[in-house]
Amino acid sequence: MPPKKKKQQHNGFSLFMLEKQEEMRLKGRKVSMQDMVPIAHPEWKSLPAEVQKGYTARAKEKKFGQGTSGYEGKLDCTGQLVTNRFSVVEYLEKRRRTESAALKDSWSTGQDITHHRFYMIAVKTLCQLPDDTYLPCELACVEYTMSAGITKRFHCFPAPGKLPLGCRYLCKRQGEDVHKIPAEWFDQYNHNYKEIWTDLIAFINPQRQHVMPALFCELRCREEVEYTLEWLARNAGMSHSLRKVYETELLILELFRNAGEIVPSRGQVSSLLASSAWDYIWDTRCAYHEETEVTLENCALGTCNKYCYCLSDAVCARYNVELTPNHIPEAETPDAIVYPAQQREIRPQGQRTPPRGNSRGQSYTPPRMKDNDEDERRDVNTAREAQRYGVI
Ligand SMILES: [Zn+2]
Repeated sequence: MPPKKKKQQHNGFSLFMLEKQEEMRLKGRKVSMQDMVPIAHPEWKSLPAEVQKGYTARAKEKKFGQGTSGYEGKLDCTGQLVTNRFSVVEYLEKRRRTESAALKDSWSTGQDITHHRFYMIAVKTLCQLPDDTYLPCELACVEYTMSAGITKRFHCFPAPGKLPLGCRYLCKRQGEDVHKIPAEWFDQYNHNYKEIWTDLIAFINPQRQHVMPALFCELRCREEVEYTLEWLARNAGMSHSLRKVYETELLILELFRNAGEIVPSRGQVSSLLASSAWDYIWDTRCAYHEETEVTLENCALGTCNKYCYCLSDAVCARYNVELTPNHIPEAETPDAIVYPAQQREIRPQGQRTPPRGNSRGQSYTPPRMKDNDEDERRDVNTAREAQRYGVI
């Protein structure tokens, strides 16, 4: 019988290292526990004794907490161990709490939040493959500040590569029905992944700062965006430094909270992002999709723009920011003739129109038809009847 695997025991320092590792992961650096020791140890030594004691006490609590839930060895209705059960809701809540704290940390630098740069990202794919991967075909990113609105745009069509066997029909149908991007033979596809990745990094981090800013997309698109960034970095042969992809919903909620306003529910924010108010306004999508006339959510650049429009619409007033066309596009008013109201005569329903009269108050008499006109009308009617019965 193989020896039982020893359970991992935590002490104060290992708990401290775990927290540091999570912090670094949120900043875009993935460090193993082994490599964390030389990084975290000098900081641990410099901590006051009380703080170290606090970590040690928490580690002891953690140790006592292990195996005391009363569910060890018990199975749920699906035959899985209860202790191994994975709750998506709990996972998402925990992730949101961590990301919310990281967001607030990035704002607490004394800078006016209305000048803080936010980066919205969106991708479109040809289809989702059976192994939960995607075939990316459009990528866009937009720089936005609450004070100035949309300030920069990045857009490209990365070539999805060779279509896997058996997926051609699905890819073609997605293109024809949804975003209108051809699966193959599209002259705007860029095959130079290194160039795309370098340009994207330069767009997001032009000052080449050590910490990369966070990117924001909707929760429902997050997996697709994270996969596309990883796919692009791999194809470019570059290190993947854009791991901080957060929810746009979370950003809007945190901006409400930061303004000291009543925070809306997540459902309200999701419906806000589903708005179609700007779907038919010119110059809100990429040049290709302006011609193909798809809705904003079917164009990557249009999707990024929509995030900014929704955010401006919901949040800017809370920070006393005046909206400009860079925040929300202006719809063009179609040419129309407007009659002054005094020229319209409103009568009660059912009242007949009085007979028209001339300027001297005499009643109106329709002009009598001349004899020649009556003859002409009779001839026309006769000709129509003859034509109807096939005489002529
Ligand atoms: Zn587009």
